[in-house]
Amino acid sequence: MVQTPPKHVAIIGAGLAGMCLAIELNKRSIQSTIYELRNPTHLTAGALMLSPNAIRVMEDIGLYERVKDKGYLFESIAFKDAEEKTTGVYYLGHEKLYGYQCLRLHRQVLLEELKAIIQEINVPIVYGKKFSSIVSETSEGVTFRFDDDTTATADMVIGADGIYSTVRQYIAPGTTANFSGLLALTCALQKKDVRFPRIEGEDGYHLPVAINGKPGQFVMAPQSSDGEELLAGTQIPYPEQDRAGWARLAADKDKLLSLMRKDYERWPDTVKSALDSVPKETMFDWPFYTMPKLHSWISTAGRVVILGDAAHAVPPAAGQGASQAFEDAYTLAILLEGISEKVGLQEALSFWNSKRQERVDGVVKLTLKINNMRLPQEEREKLAEEDISLSDERGQLAWLYGANIGKDFLDWIEEKTQN
Ligand SMILES: Cc1cc2nc3c(=O)[nH]c(=O)nc-3n(C[C@H](O)[C@H](O)[C@H](O)COP(=O)(O)OP(=O)(O)OC[C@H]3O[C@@H](n4cnc5c(N)ncnc54)[C@H](O)[C@@H]3O)c2cc1C
Repeated sequence: MVQTPPKHVAIIGAGLAGMCLAIELNKRSIQSTIYELRNPTHLTAGALMLSPNAIRVMEDIGLYERVKDKGYLFESIAFKDAEEKTTGVYYLGHEKLYGYQCLRLHRQVLLEELKAIIQEINVPIVYGKKFSSIVSETSEGVTFRFDDDTTATADMVIGADGIYSTVRQYIAPGTTANFSGLLALTCALQKKDVRFPRIEGEDGYHLPVAINGKPGQFVMAPQSSDGEELLAGTQIPYPEQDRAGWARLAADKDKLLSLMRKDYERWPDTVKSALDSVPKETMFDWPFYTMPKLHSWISTAGRVVILGDAAHAVPPAAGQGASQAFEDAYTLAILLEGISEKVGLQEALSFWNSKRQERVDGVVKLTLKINNMRLPQEEREKLAEEDISLSDERGQLAWLYGANIGKDFLDWIEEKTQN
């Protein structure tokens, strides 16, 4: 059978991965329809950090131009000890080294702009449609069902349906996300309300900052374009709750605030002043769930694929969840366009899966180190230096932030095509 790129792809989920994939496919003349369980007026809270590797993809789909003035651009985060002495500066973005700075941006802004691009290129999003199961998959295509019992067909189904993915149940039945035992507590506060100390030998107070105090790490990062609104937060060990329990906790702003202030007396003065000025209504909690490494992101017949959080929800510390979702979408579109007589679908998907997994593995390793740095002092002291520190040597993360991630895939297609 002569192989050709799929003509019509069904994408489950209008999140970051799903919408980015639809735009990348459209650029390559592959049609898609997105099915999204929520309604179009749903609002999402919080902000995201987008590192240079994500921005490279955002630039490719015309998203970066639209959002870069709506968020906060920066290059590095300072690590400080309990006495507020800077112990290291870690580059999360750098124009010269990695091509871009790092951007912190409200998630809703990102989603709105993605939706606007999707509308401009006329990709349909069907809202209020909850994918429930795959009915049948052959070498030609897929029939799938929604929870209202209607069905649809497509050449391929791509599950971009997030950490609690239903599409994943077809590829890796029974796999669920595991609770890491850690709960992040964050809020949005005003920079003017925090008492930043003057530090001898330092030129102003470096933001974003991660203060390694006795109870753990406290982070403050600007997230509005003028830098005046700060995300502030820490993470604490917390027992796992069921869905109703997590929902109750999320709604109980007093409890969230008292958990965040639990070790008030043990934090340095800067953190105390931040904790004194938290607008309670901005309190937000985020239990860290991660996915065990999957054997495969692809069904046996190669017509159902998962990506983004559905395939590999990485622990959040490196701020790479969204970035990896963008990379997945970009590279999958490159490969699907390359399907031909000489580049078979299953072989191409399996190459994609292994290359993507390699990168996600690298992110997981980096995240473990960053998580160690956030432990309380007595826990940090039990670990080896290399497990709790990132060197401040610039450019150490070129493999992550500076990589030309499309190149491996384009080279592979070219090599196959020439043989
Ligand atoms: C509080 C918080 C802060 C974060 N901060 C960062 C950060 O700073 N940097 C970073 O890189 N990452 C961050 N992340 C992680 C990042 O948000 C995710 O990795 C990213 O959103 C994954 O994108 P996705 O498209 O795979 O999944 P999602 O964004 O979760 O999108 C999945 C979509 O699928 C839909 N869906 C689900 N099930 C179905 C179904 N059955 N049928 C139809 N539709 C369905 C959902 O409604 C949703 O719209 C953060 C996450 C959280 C929660």
